[in-house]
Amino acid sequence: MASSPVHCDLDFSRPGRQHGHLYLPFSYNMAGWANLMVPITVLNGERGGPTALALAGNHGDEYPGQVALLRLSRELKLEEVRGRLILVPCLSMHASKAMTRLSPVDGKNFNRCFPGRPDGSPSEVLAHYLSSVLFPLADIVIDIHTGGRSLDFVPCAHMHLVPDLQQRERMRAGTEAWNSELAFLYADIAGSGLLPVEAENQGKTVITTEMGGGEAVPASVHRLTQSGLRNVLRHFGVLDGRPATRRELGIKPVRWVQALDREDYRFAPESGIYENLVDLGAEVSAGEPVGQIHFIERPDREPVPVVAASAGVLIGARSPSVVIQGDCVACIAHDVTW
Ligand SMILES: [Zn+2]
Repeated sequence: MASSPVHCDLDFSRPGRQHGHLYLPFSYNMAGWANLMVPITVLNGERGGPTALALAGNHGDEYPGQVALLRLSRELKLEEVRGRLILVPCLSMHASKAMTRLSPVDGKNFNRCFPGRPDGSPSEVLAHYLSSVLFPLADIVIDIHTGGRSLDFVPCAHMHLVPDLQQRERMRAGTEAWNSELAFLYADIAGSGLLPVEAENQGKTVITTEMGGGEAVPASVHRLTQSGLRNVLRHFGVLDGRPATRRELGIKPVRWVQALDREDYRFAPESGIYENLVDLGAEVSAGEPVGQIHFIERPDREPVPVVAASAGVLIGARSPSVVIQGDCVACIAHDVTW
């Protein structure tokens, strides 16, 4: 890969804790020699453990991961770190401030920019830096998502079914270590260029999540995000200590579900006002309406139902009421055993 124009003021090999920034060259009308600055923290315990790269704010309007990494970067004692931990609490800083999914700087979806380009837009340049500099440093890549403002999810860790069986098994065990009630095998139904796919292609053990969604984040979701992250880091030996088991925590064995078929993702057939008919996390049967679309300008029209193609659990549901034709409004997942 071509070299990156991004400057980093950290030395990843230096022992101890360092807070610094990535500097992306950037110009605008009032500053010709400016930078877009991305905060980054490294904790290097130098005791022979693996390196984990933990990321949040891939999409700006997904906040639990950003809070979890901010807290971890300050609260973690260096003595707890066996290996090396690289934390980027907010990949899409301007989107986070603007409460948007896409970057207001270049209009890009950061999670469709991989592997990136050194001569591209700021999102593409940062994606290229991750692909060419940060991923090669890491054994484990953790990318914390939520449904953002568009979808509400049952809080869960999730993963792709990567073809390499050893890598898949490492990812399965790490995903379970998040200790979410559901663990979710998901498919990419909306384009390519995803961050986790690039990390998977580089052979990394990739752990991802959907920690709820929406603008209001319950304390329980924040707790699960923070406890899950720490437990995963203990599981892989990045942090000291034995990982907490589900039995110790008094929670049921994990329920693995999958949504790998396109028909598991339901899209709005028309624009209108969406009414969720089923509670998030509820079981649904084949053909059951999970929501319906109303037409504010046409009180005479019957609402149009959105039905489950097959039986399963409603793992993701539309959050904003106004929908545009083609929006994903529901995700229905099915039990699966390993
Ligand atoms: Zn996301």
